[in-house]
Amino acid sequence: ALPIIYAITPTYTRPVQKAELTRLAHAFRQVPRFHWIVVEDSTVRTELVARFLAGCRVPFTHLHVFTHRRFKRVGMPRATEQRNAALAWLRHHRSRRDSGVVFFADDDNTYSLELFEEMRSTQGVSVWPVGFVGGRAYERPLVSGGKVVGWYTGWRPDRPFATDMAGFAVNLQVILANPRAQFKRGGSQPGMQESDFLKQITKVSELEPKANNCTRVLVWHTRTEKPHLANEPKHRKDSVVIEV
Ligand code: UDP
Ligand code: MN
Repeated sequence: ALPIIYAITPTYTRPVQKAELTRLAHAFRQVPRFHWIVVEDSTVRTELVARFLAGCRVPFTHLHVFTHRRFKRVGMPRATEQRNAALAWLRHHRSRRDSGVVFFADDDNTYSLELFEEMRSTQGVSVWPVGFVGGRAYERPLVSGGKVVGWYTGWRPDRPFATDMAGFAVNLQVILANPRAQFKRGGSQPGMQESDFLKQITKVSELEPKANNCTRVLVWHTRTEKPHLANEPKHRKDSVVIEV
């Protein structure tokens, strides 16, 4: 059987949340052997997300962990606790017998279905280009003789792994074999989370280039504009309560 792809999606309550999850589900629903680990940044599993997942026709696990306010200032890394909660879940619920590939799928990115075909064969840690990051149209691993030899990026090329969260996948067994590997809050600057994590589990020389030797963009770091809600009434004016 194909290894299962475990996509870890941190998500938080905001006006566009359900729209984002809907967009993701439309892609994920078409991927065979797929398991969606949705981790809410909240003190409870919200009804909106629980209802959504129950009806989305994607196999899922619904977790939650709240990020304290002190970690929510601008310039701080996001969703550290949520990604770690998903890793903890995998370590607790999956074993040496399970074949899988773990991928970090933020809720606002755009995913080509081909990306999942590419990552499915990940033996250790695989990498590929990501669109709209690093201050450029794309960022990508530079490949020579089938090996990653450097990074094409417009931002901090000194990063040991100059890739975005959406630019790599990890074999489930690597996650299980490195039980202490996790995303770090202390000291980790935004944009360094990926490098800080990957350092714990692999070496640049061991990375597996995907997407035609990292020459194709199959995932985009899109960001959704905040909707204009200036005309929302202070007190409910509509005769019904509608979930958006
Ligand atoms: N996120 C979260 N809590 C927050 C902010 C973000 O769980 O307080 C999630 C968000 O839903 C997304 C991921 O963390 O899946 C990355 O956040 P965002 O897309 O805002 O980061 P950016 O793309 O700007 O780096
Ligand atoms: Mn984003």
